[in-house]
Order: sequence, then C-alpha cells, then structure tokens
Amino acid sequence: MAVQVANQPPPLRDYNVVAANAPLLEALRREGAAWAEDDLLAFGAELGGEPLEWGRLANQHPPVLHGHDRVEFHPAWHSLLALGIREGLQRPGSHVARAAKFMALAQVEAGVGCPLSMTHAAVPTLRLEPALAAEWEPRVTAGEALIGMAMTEKQGGSDVRANETEARPAGDREATLHGHKWFCSAPMSDAFLILAQAPGGLSCYLVPRADNGIVIERLKDKLGNRSNASSEIRLDGAWGRLVGDEGRGIATIIEMVVHTRLDCVLGSAALMREAVAQAIHHCTHRVAFGKLLAEQPLMLNVLADLCVESEAATIGALRLARAFDEGDEFRRVATAVLKYWVCKRAPGVVGEALECLGGNGFVEDSGLPRLYRESPLNAIWEGSSNVQCLDVLRAVRREPASAAAFLAELDERDRAPVERALAEADEHGARRLVETMGVALQATLLDRHSDPAIAASFRSRERFGAFGTLPAGLPLAAIVERNRPS
Ligand SMILES: Cc1cc2nc3c(=O)[nH]c(=O)nc-3n(C[C@H](O)[C@H](O)[C@H](O)COP(=O)(O)OP(=O)(O)OC[C@H]3O[C@@H](n4cnc5c(N)ncnc54)[C@H](O)[C@@H]3O)c2cc1C
Repeated sequence: MAVQVANQPPPLRDYNVVAANAPLLEALRREGAAWAEDDLLAFGAELGGEPLEWGRLANQHPPVLHGHDRVEFHPAWHSLLALGIREGLQRPGSHVARAAKFMALAQVEAGVGCPLSMTHAAVPTLRLEPALAAEWEPRVTAGEALIGMAMTEKQGGSDVRANETEARPAGDREATLHGHKWFCSAPMSDAFLILAQAPGGLSCYLVPRADNGIVIERLKDKLGNRSNASSEIRLDGAWGRLVGDEGRGIATIIEMVVHTRLDCVLGSAALMREAVAQAIHHCTHRVAFGKLLAEQPLMLNVLADLCVESEAATIGALRLARAFDEGDEFRRVATAVLKYWVCKRAPGVVGEALECLGGNGFVEDSGLPRLYRESPLNAIWEGSSNVQCLDVLRAVRREPASAAAFLAELDERDRAPVERALAEADEHGARRLVETMGVALQATLLDRHSDPAIAASFRSRERFGAFGTLPAGLPLAAIVERNRPS
C-alpha cells in the first residue's frame, strides 16, 4: 500500500538564488554595479538548478591525493570551479559585481571559493613585480592558472615571523626554498606565493608548481570545506622568484591577504543567506500545532531575527566591496572589523537556521549540516578572530586616517559609542571594541539603506544573545516575506 507523505516540505531547488535575495540586489545597485544586475540574475537562475547537486556531490566525494603531486577531484568540483572561472571570479575587475557573484556561488558551494579567492587576491601582490604580472596575469585572466599561498607552518600560523622555511639565494632575485608548510590549500594550483626566510629576513616568493620540488605530503581531513583540498607540503629546493623587497615578505603578501579577507566576509554573508533561505522555506511549508511554523509567533521572531542578521551581513559586505573599488581609507579598518564580526556571527546564524528545520536540519539531505560545518572556517583562516581585533587596534593607533574614515562613515548616534570604545581600547578589550564597531557600522548602513522594519529590528536588539528575542510591535511577517526564497 502506498504511504502518503504529508507535511514534509519540498526541497528548495529550481529557483533563482539571486532573484530571491532582495538585500543583495539592492546592495549591488546601490554600491555602483547596477550594470551587472542582468548578468547576476542569469547566474542566480543557473545556480539554483544543477549546481546545487554538484555542491552536494563535490562534498560527498572529497579530493584524493595520488602519489605526491596529483590531486583527484570529483567531476562536480571541476564543474563548479569552471562556473566560477567563467564568471571571472578569479580575475581583477569590479569588486562589487564580483562580490555579488562570489556570494551567489558560495551559497551553492563554498569550497571552490578558496582557489578562486586566492587567485584573484594574488594579482595585486604580483603587480608589485611588473615582469611577473606580465607573465601570470594574462593566464589568470584567461582562467588558465590558479595561484595559492603558503604561509602557515607547524610552529606558527598567526605568527608568520616564526616561519623557518629557508630561501637560499640562487641568482638575481631568485632562490630555492627548503622547508615545510603545514597548510597549503588548493595544492593543484599552478603557482604559490610562499613566505620564506632569506638572508635579509622573511620574504615572499612566487613559486611555480610543476616539476619544482613541491611535495604534497598529505591532504587534511577537515571539519568542513571538504570539497576543497588543503594539504601539507614539503619544499625540497623549490625554485622561486622574489616578489617585493627581501625582508618585506609580510608587507608584500598582505595585499593578497586583505583581498582574501574581503572574500571571507562575502563567504560568511553567503552562508548566512543560504541557511536563512532554507529556514524560511521549511517554515513556510511545515505545519505544527495546526499552523505553519512561520505563522507561530515565536518562530516568526526567530526567522525575522535571522533575516535581520543576514541582511546586516550582506549590506556590510557589499559596502566593503565598494571600498575596494574606491581604494579609500575606510577599507583599512572596515575589512578587519567585518572579517571579525560577520565571520563570527555565521556559526550562530547557521546553527539557529538548522534548528528551524527540526530533525531534518540535522540530516545531510537538508544541506544544513554542510553549511554548519563550513561556518566556523572564515573566522579562522586569513587571520583568526583575535588577530583581526589586534589588527584593528594596530590600525587605529598607527594609521589615524583609517580610524577617522571609519568614524566618518557612521551616523552621529553610532559614532559616539565607537569613540568611547576607541578611547578605552586595549588588547584585553579588543573584541569588545571591534564588536562595538561592527554593530555600529551595520546599524548605520541598515538605517541608511535598508527596509525601515529591518533597521528598526536591528536597533531594537538589547543584546546579541540567541536569535528570536526581538521585542513586540515590529512587522516581523513582512521582514520574513522580504527574504523568502520563491
Ligand atoms: C581549512 C584551512 C585551510 C587553510 N589554508 C591555508 C593556506 O592555503 N595557506 C596558509 O598559509 N594557511 C592556510 N591555513 C592556515 C590558517 O591560515 C591558520 O590556521 C590560521 O592563520 C591560524 O594559525 P594557526 O593555525 O597557526 O593558529 P595559531 O596562530 O596558533 O592561533 C591559535 C589561536 O590563537 C589566537 N592568537 C594568535 N595570536 C594571538 C595573540 N597575540 N593574542 C591573542 N590571540 C592570539 C588566534 O586568533 C587563534 O584563535 C588554512 C587553515 C584551514 C583551517
């Protein structure tokens, strides 16, 4: 006898992941890339189809290392990476337009974002050496080369000055590298920017991969980001060319890292958006106690609060992307503030969204476990949370113009708490400071640009505890409707 299944929401698929994301589309137009809207919408429609399944497959079949130099990926991974390259996510161009597409792809699958992000971010560092840029940038632009980075060693990741990999001079601005890197993601890349100790101090080298003494020892067995390969590598005399000045390796590679930090913000905002879309979809189809979950007042409070957080992340992320296009002082502090705050909020949002699906949320079929495992990562790499907070402290002390630009962005009522926090800032209280800055920036931006109900809800929060504690009297159903994927 056939069993009739009732009250199980259909999977969220065959929909346009961008058209359903009003905050993203509005931000795209506002931040100067309205010209890219049609293209973005077409990409969103494509992503909501077969690529959803590719994302699942690429994670269910993680990469495998063969020997010491070949990484085999599932075909679904290649399809997703090819999509990202086709859309130009690896090459320089408008940051705002790229940011929106990067977010759309990251909703579907986060793993390919890593090589796309590193390759895109390597270009500003390569441009410090016109000859290297002339050789590599056309290949990057054509989608024929990927570039990774290897800084982290066993004895120190945040503290890269502790690097022990040795760079032995081998001609004019050339060296052979000897040592070990504890983390090297996308080891199938065509070249890497690598930090190593030269006679003049820690320096940055561009090291091609093919037949060049790079030995992949092992792939990491990771919590999330499982579609992507992250490895341990040994450098057995790998030949490289100096980028920037000898002894100035950190200053050289930081331009790359600043760009990957933007992508961490974009990636976390995308994870939040996807989790919230899934939660709304489920709750607008699932009935409990005689009513749709989304109509139950307490669940409505949870969903609306999640929408507010997701929109705050998106709005800040796209504003930050514009700062990269404009190259202004605001970028300096805002990147570290949002890298800390948006990435820090992601696991809480994804975890709460997962719970909205009840038991289904804990089951792989729903996709939420994958998002949940992914969600802490952006806070860790490219400078972990504490490192971002210490970076904010350093910037406000040493580069007052960057702090002034951040303050200038804020509405008057948001400026006062930040000024107070800055006056008291010290290492012990750095997270408190950066959280104050992140919330102030998001409050200002929501007031300025978002739906008034969203802005009012954000400001109504008395604390940043669990989601679902918004006070009475706000139009919560309208907030959820604005964010409902359809
Ligand atoms: C999936 C994945 C892929 C990665 N891919 C790459 C890659 O391709 N290339 C690469 O170079 N690296 C890569 N990394 C490494 C990553 O960048 C480092 O793990 C990260 O920078 C932290 O360094 P660590 O692991 O050595 O931790 P540590 O530096 O030991 O830090 C541990 C903790 O201490 C905190 N901390 C550090 N210093 C201070 C301080 N002064 N005050 C207060 N707190 C502090 C940190 O914030 C962190 O929370 C990857 C990591 C992961 C998880």
